[in-house]
Amino acid sequence: MTNALQQTRTRIVATLGPASWELETLGRLIDAGVDVFRINCSHSEAATIRMQVARVRRAAFDRGVPIAILLDLQGPKIRTGKVTTPLTLKAGDLLTVVMDEDIIGHDRRVGTTYPQMAGDVHLGDRVLFADGALSGTVAAIRTEQHPAEVDIRIRDGGQLGSHKGINLPGVRMSVPSLTEKDLADVDLGVEVGVDYVALSFVRVAEDILGLKRHLQRQGVSVPIIAKIEKPEALDHLDAILEVTEGVMVARGDLGVEVPLETVPVHQKRIIAAAAQRGRIVITATQMLDSMERNPRPTRAETTDVANAILDGTDAVMLSGETSVGSYPIEAVRTMDAIARSVEQSSFFRGPPLDKLPPMDGPQGAACRAACFAVAGTDTPLVVFTWSGDTAIYVSKARPTGPIFALSPLQPVVDRLALAWGVQSFRIPVAQSMEDLIDGGERVLLQQGLIRPGQTLVILGGNAPEHGATSFVKFHVVRAPGA
Ligand code: PEP
Repeated sequence: MTNALQQTRTRIVATLGPASWELETLGRLIDAGVDVFRINCSHSEAATIRMQVARVRRAAFDRGVPIAILLDLQGPKIRTGKVTTPLTLKAGDLLTVVMDEDIIGHDRRVGTTYPQMAGDVHLGDRVLFADGALSGTVAAIRTEQHPAEVDIRIRDGGQLGSHKGINLPGVRMSVPSLTEKDLADVDLGVEVGVDYVALSFVRVAEDILGLKRHLQRQGVSVPIIAKIEKPEALDHLDAILEVTEGVMVARGDLGVEVPLETVPVHQKRIIAAAAQRGRIVITATQMLDSMERNPRPTRAETTDVANAILDGTDAVMLSGETSVGSYPIEAVRTMDAIARSVEQSSFFRGPPLDKLPPMDGPQGAACRAACFAVAGTDTPLVVFTWSGDTAIYVSKARPTGPIFALSPLQPVVDRLALAWGVQSFRIPVAQSMEDLIDGGERVLLQQGLIRPGQTLVILGGNAPEHGATSFVKFHVVRAPGA
């Protein structure tokens, strides 16, 4: 019989790219432990997004496992324009940024994709290029000429190439957080049925609400992951957590926007706040960075992944390691092995049960009762769910026994691939509570995950709707056909 806890409980998100998107590789990545594939819209046009979704669905279907797809929107990422050859800049040089995307940069001039930059910056503001590899301060602004120009006095020099990121930490940007490309990508994501949408450069809760209104106008609702990568988002974290389904500690841009040495503490605060509010949290970027080039990680990277799990993250993410790296399968296997080792250690524990996230009404009472009922035991928690919310809630208690989520809705089954420790299965729609429990028991017996005579704690509701969870039940598994 399969051990019900064979699966790693921390979720692994792998970014797709040329190193991973062949069908055969996708299957091997799933076998190695991937739960969620991330499509990075910064590097994907419509046809590539369609191709990636179709192949992931095919690979998941072939393996008969739920896999979630996360569509990560590019957001208002500011970049340099084209340059003929990389500009060589040294400390003290004056670089002129021209508010025109189409000029070809040379010597000490470069274009930008963000023409509003000249209106948004002030003298003395910091400007970083290429993920912070180069930096400087604004020395002159010429808005009276067309195109406008901004001079940057270089502090940390280096080579500046085409399409490199530009960060303006602390600058209030006038650009909306959802660009035209983002809206087109969201609409395509809805059409092809992605499971989550990640919103980049979120500043305030209104950014999320704007995306929700856009989805509502189409009569759909897709869970949103707010990427926390701007200082403003750190200032408005509680309000953002109120309205989003999840957050990502997007350490790449965050480490450029705030002093790098503060990122570890921000990570801990974001993870703790998400856990307290019952929201999913993904920790991302450079987790096993050296595995883009090497088959084994560094000790520091291994410890970083382990510490994120001990901080309480639900998921850990691979970026370049799986999208363009030389060792995508090894990177996933490595993450899986680290997660397994940490989850089995005595250092790994959930929150005290009196600190579970708030949830009102009978649903909250039933969820808390179920978490208390299984606490400190290996008793399986079986959750019948229409929205997935109750399964996500109980996963935040980090029970030691398995969590089995059963839903008649395939999108809910797939979405739960991102919820820590949840194994989700599709069941038929039931007419009564007895039918529901019979159907769930049958599926779990068939999978070899429960055995006759075993006690389960069941969490469910009588109505086929969101928020209807209303009962907790101890149930002894019957022999098949009894
Ligand atoms: C990040 O900045 O850490 C991140 C995940 O975003 P992206 O890779 O899209 O820049």
